[in-house]
Amino acid sequence: MPDENPGQAIAASLRALRLRLPAGQVHDSGPGYDDGIALWNGAVQRRPGILLSCTSTADVVIGVLTAREFGLPLSVRGRGHDFAGRALVDGGLTLDLRPLHGVRVDPEARIARVGGGASANHLLAAADEHGLVAATGTIGAVGVAGLTLGGGYGPLAGRVGLAADNLLAAELVTADGSVLRTDARHDPEVLWALRGGGGNFGVVTSMTVQLHAVPAVVTGMVLYPWKQAGQVLERVREAQQDCPDGLTIQVGAIPAPDGAPALLVLPTWSGDVATGTDPSGPVMALTRLGDPLLAQLDAVPYAATVAGRDAMFPDGRHVTIRTRSVPELSDQVIGIVDRFGGELPTPMSGISLHHFHGAAARIAPADTAFVLRRPHLMTETIGVWTAEDTGENAHRWADEASAALARHAFPGGYANLLGPDAVDQIPDIYGDNLARLRQIKTAVDPDGIFSGTPLPLA
Ligand SMILES: Cc1cc2nc3c(=O)[nH]c(=O)nc-3n(C[C@H](O)[C@H](O)[C@H](O)COP(=O)(O)OP(=O)(O)OC[C@H]3O[C@@H](n4cnc5c(N)ncnc54)[C@H](O)[C@@H]3O)c2cc1C
Repeated sequence: MPDENPGQAIAASLRALRLRLPAGQVHDSGPGYDDGIALWNGAVQRRPGILLSCTSTADVVIGVLTAREFGLPLSVRGRGHDFAGRALVDGGLTLDLRPLHGVRVDPEARIARVGGGASANHLLAAADEHGLVAATGTIGAVGVAGLTLGGGYGPLAGRVGLAADNLLAAELVTADGSVLRTDARHDPEVLWALRGGGGNFGVVTSMTVQLHAVPAVVTGMVLYPWKQAGQVLERVREAQQDCPDGLTIQVGAIPAPDGAPALLVLPTWSGDVATGTDPSGPVMALTRLGDPLLAQLDAVPYAATVAGRDAMFPDGRHVTIRTRSVPELSDQVIGIVDRFGGELPTPMSGISLHHFHGAAARIAPADTAFVLRRPHLMTETIGVWTAEDTGENAHRWADEASAALARHAFPGGYANLLGPDAVDQIPDIYGDNLARLRQIKTAVDPDGIFSGTPLPLA
């Protein structure tokens, strides 16, 4: 029976969980608790009543059933990179999936079975042992399940699609504590929803993903001084319009070594290395879009380059993010990036534009829950501040940039990066796929227990 008094419900749940699981997995204070509530975004201060460290599917089932029994709100923590902090629920029960980070690779079938709490680094390190790669995001510390459930933009999207497009099967603990195994033949509607519909359908304890043979990628960093940003972005537009599947060109505003803003051009070439390193080829051409401050592009293992970028996004900074998806680097969009990239509110703030094209754009909108299949750029406006600051300037800057981009953007936006305040965008995230997602939600989570990613239900 749900307890009317939240304090009593927590106390009763704690007693029940300590009978059902080893005490070392059930935290309401102490170092294990403090470690579990520390998220990537240091601005998030949420205190679940209980943090349950899950080491198996059975632990997750116990966690879900106990939360239901005592009427506690539930949240799911993967690697803790959601900027809005939805991994944690104040006064509720948080299922910490980080111990479920195992990865098993089948090199012949080119698939991997990945624990629900694994990071991209866990997955890529295991795949790399067999010369294989997986579709991941740009950096390694992000959770594979969180990234994949929302879509998963990444450097290989042009060649192999989004992370969600490479999801083949999943084991899911649903709201009634059932363990559901979904693939193309079993509960295919649920698999469809997991490919972009977010963490709204249950707890993914493991997922099977497609791997690909990519022995090395040609990537690195080309930095241009900000005063050349407009001209360089126009040339990036041309390169993106005529872009082979094997090349994605991410761009962004980041601080140069001297702290001033610089334009980052970050290509990832997953075709043959000789073409990627050919001075007259499409990749090396990106070092000649202006007079670069730095141009370093090399052939490296994909796993190493993704892991190597983690240092650029350390844990604990105070962050807010806005996202808009624009069809291309139009003159107006270039003008907005030029203006707001040149006015970063703090040196750690930035703008990032993820390149969506090729294989990702050839999937039909209704084939997966992830609906926006036209070529586009997913923009992230990232305002960062320190603990001593209020963050007011960073929020204002991010809001103004987002409002300016909105006039040139598709409706909706990327579910994984839309915070609860994005009320103008949330209704349009799933477009024509919304009705089907609502039906699946009603079937597997009729009481709305899982709400980690925005899904408009009314
Ligand atoms: C530095 C940084 C870089 C990023 N780069 C990219 C990028 O290149 N491409 C991109 O597409 N996105 C990117 N993101 C966004 C990222 O994909 C999302 O924030 C994602 O939700 C993070 O997953 P997580 O497990 O780390 O987060 P968490 O905060 O632990 O989880 C967020 C939510 O995801 C859901 N979830 C996570 N794991 C599970 C599970 N096993 N079962 C059910 N639900 C689950 C839950 O609803 C949970 O509340 C980036 C974010 C950051 C902070």
